[in-house]
Amino acid sequence: MSANRPSTLSRARRTSFLPFSPPDIGEAEITAVVDTLRSGWLTTGPQTRRFEREFADYLGAPDALAVNSCTAALHLALLVLNIGPGDEVITTPMTFCSTAHVIEHVGARPVLVDVAPDTLNLDPACVAAALTPATRALLPVHYAGHPVEMQPLRELAKAHGLSIVEDAAHALPASYQGQRVGASGSLTAFSFYATKNLTTGEGGMLTGDPALVERARTLSLHGMSRDAWKRYGQGGSWYYEVVAEGYKYNMTDIQAALGLVQLARLAVLQDRRRTIVARYHAAFDGVEALQPPAVRPDVEPAWHLYVLRLHLDRLTIDRAGFIEQLAARNIGSSVHFIPLHLHPFYRDKYGWSPGDFPVASEEYQRLLSLPLNSTLTDDDVDDVIAAVLEIVAIFQR
Ligand SMILES: *Cc1c(COP(=O)(O)O)cnc(C)c1O
Repeated sequence: MSANRPSTLSRARRTSFLPFSPPDIGEAEITAVVDTLRSGWLTTGPQTRRFEREFADYLGAPDALAVNSCTAALHLALLVLNIGPGDEVITTPMTFCSTAHVIEHVGARPVLVDVAPDTLNLDPACVAAALTPATRALLPVHYAGHPVEMQPLRELAKAHGLSIVEDAAHALPASYQGQRVGASGSLTAFSFYATKNLTTGEGGMLTGDPALVERARTLSLHGMSRDAWKRYGQGGSWYYEVVAEGYKYNMTDIQAALGLVQLARLAVLQDRRRTIVARYHAAFDGVEALQPPAVRPDVEPAWHLYVLRLHLDRLTIDRAGFIEQLAARNIGSSVHFIPLHLHPFYRDKYGWSPGDFPVASEEYQRLLSLPLNSTLTDDDVDDVIAAVLEIVAIFQR
C-alpha cells in the first residue's frame, strides 16, 4: 500500500503521541475520591444518592438510578419493560456492541435497520418498514452525541404501542427541541466509561419514569427490597426481602464522588469541546476530500465524537491508510463503529450481510474519529488540523 512508503510519512510534527481520548481528571476529582476512601463508606450510599439527584436535576429527568455501566442501565431498561423471548427490539448497526448484547441478554431479537446518511442516526423510514407484530421497543442511539430525530420515532411508538429506550452513552449533555436528552420520560441510559464526556472510570445512569426506575433500582442490587444499602448504617435494619433474581449493577460511592465533581465541571468541559469543534469545522469545511459532521439548527449535540468522513474518490489512500498517516504524525484516532452486522457473532447468528444496511456499510468505510476532549490544548488542536490537512494535500487525487 502506498501509505507505507517511507517517503510519504512526513516527520511527525509532534514529538509526543496525542492520545485519542484521555480522561479529564483534576485535583477536585482526586480529593473527592480520597475523601470518600476516608469516609468509611465505599459502596452505594450517600454520594450515590446525591449523584442521582443532581444528575436528574441537571437534565430535568423525572428520576435517575446510578449503576455500574451504561450496559447495565440498558439491560435493566429492557427487563423492567418485560421484554423477552419472542420480542423484537429495533436498533441501529452504528453503535457499540453492548446496545445489541442487552437485547440478546433478555432473550429478545435485535432487529437492525439502516441509518440516515447525514447524522448516521436511525432512519425513521427504515424503522417504520421494520415493524412487525413482535416489535416491542425502539432502541435509538444518539450517535456521536448528535440527538436522534425523536419526533417520528415517538409517533411510531405511540401508534404501535411500543416502548422507547434511548442509548445516550454519547449524549451528555445534548438537547433535542429544547429538551435535554434523558428528560423526556422514556428510559434513557448514560455511560460514564473512561472515554465518555463525564467519567466515573466505569459507571452509568438510567433516567426515566419513576415507577420503572424504581423497579430497576431493586433489580440493580440483587432484587433486594427496601433501601438495602442502608442496612449497615446506624438506624439501618438487618431485615430485607429478596423479591426478584436481581443483578449486581449498583454504583459505588467512590465512583459517585468522582461523578459529582465531573457533573459540576460539565458545563466548562462542554464549552471546551464546542470550541474545539468550531476550530475543526472552520479548518475542514470546504476541503473537497473531507466531510465534517452534520450540524442541524434544532439540536444541541453533546459532541462526544468528531466523526470526519473521507471522500475516498478524492484520495489515493483508504481510511486505514489515513489513520496510519495520522499515527505517523503522532495523532491518535479511532473508528466508531465497526457496524454490528459485520461482527461475526451477529453476522452469523442472523445471516446479515453488508448489503442489508447499505448506508451503514458504506459510511463505515470512510469514517474516523479525531481527538475531541477537554484536555486538548490549542496547540494539540492545531497539530490535529495540520496533520489532517497535510495528509489530504499529499494523498489527494
Ligand atoms: C460506551 C457505549 C456503551 C456502553 O457503555 P458502558 O458504560 O461501557 O457500558 C453503550 N452504547 C454506546 C453507543 C457506547 O458508546
